[in-house]
Amino acid sequence: MEPWEWDEATWRGKVNKVRAGRSLKPKAWKDGARCAVALSFDSDHETNELRDGGQSIGRMSQGQYGNRMGVPRILETLKNADVPATFFVPAVAALLYPDEQRRVIAEGHEIGLHGWIHEVNTKVPADKERELHFRAADTLEKITGIRPVGMRTPSWDFSYETLKIERELGLIYDSSLMADDDPYELVEDGEPTGMVELPVEWIRDDAVYFNMNRFTALRPYTPPTSVLDIFKREFDRAYIEGGLFLLTMHPHVSGYRSRIFVLEDLIRHIQGHEGVWFATHADIARFARENGGE
Ligand SMILES: [Zn+2]
Repeated sequence: MEPWEWDEATWRGKVNKVRAGRSLKPKAWKDGARCAVALSFDSDHETNELRDGGQSIGRMSQGQYGNRMGVPRILETLKNADVPATFFVPAVAALLYPDEQRRVIAEGHEIGLHGWIHEVNTKVPADKERELHFRAADTLEKITGIRPVGMRTPSWDFSYETLKIERELGLIYDSSLMADDDPYELVEDGEPTGMVELPVEWIRDDAVYFNMNRFTALRPYTPPTSVLDIFKREFDRAYIEGGLFLLTMHPHVSGYRSRIFVLEDLIRHIQGHEGVWFATHADIARFARENGGE
């Protein structure tokens, strides 16, 4: 049946499967902070190519750059600024680079779920999706010693099964959806779930501005200085509104010599403001769940 032939129950049912419920934006953040800052790095590495079939050695070498140069440069930047962050890691990338994950944890950051091999959830059969997320959680726990409490779905692709699986996994937050600027509670089939959504946006994602494909017209059209300007304006407005500034970056995208300043300058800009709380996604989700929505 074509979409224009659906009855109301059908299109309403699709929209209501997973919805934004009440806002979980607190009146003030931890210790009276005015704004919360959640920096995240999706350590996809070679899985971006593997999930598409792993045909290109060249593209996989770009993934390896993420491990060899990107993550170390980012960790150094975070250490110099003394701020925590969250790294979302596909299980296969964690298996390729277990030492990287252990270093991330040892330096005080969080690791969250990011699929098995960066598979696209809506293309995976429902029973298979469940198995992959559970296997990924077991794998990350085995490598780091810590069971992940949050998920960013690969490519922010969210199936009709995903939220159910996240709840079964006992996660406290998801960070893949886009219905708000600030944290909110996810509602499934009309029922509040207690699951915190820490919303993402392509506007606050480095890959959108920097990705390139040799064989298509896709090029980085936005210079790094303009990307920094967009991110700063997103933060500035979050600060005025007392909200959350959540940023997604990728080690194999932003870890380059000509781009790492975006992260460095952004953190410096944010730290020039009074009352900013830098925290992991897990800490922000817990705080929002306990203090938000009053
Ligand atoms: Zn990813």
